[in-house]
Amino acid sequence: MKLDLRSIYRFAPVESDGSLPSGGDIYYECECGDIVSSVSHIAAACQCGNLKGGQGSVRVDDAARVKPMRGKLR
Ligand SMILES: [Zn+2]
Repeated sequence: MKLDLRSIYRFAPVESDGSLPSGGDIYYECECGDIVSSVSHIAAACQCGNLKGGQGSVRVDDAARVKPMRGKLR
């Protein structure tokens, strides 16, 4: 089952100095269009495999293809 986070949160881009921030309200939007929480406690991955999250963190294969976003509940 796939949860579309965009239906729950409103996302706004976060200014980044090149390193990806992380936190409870930070999400990563991959080039493939999927969004994964930066502190995902459930197993989550984007469809292209660039982001693989779980157990409180996300492994990012290519940070250049990821945009950090701040999510606010709608
Ligand atoms: Zn992806």
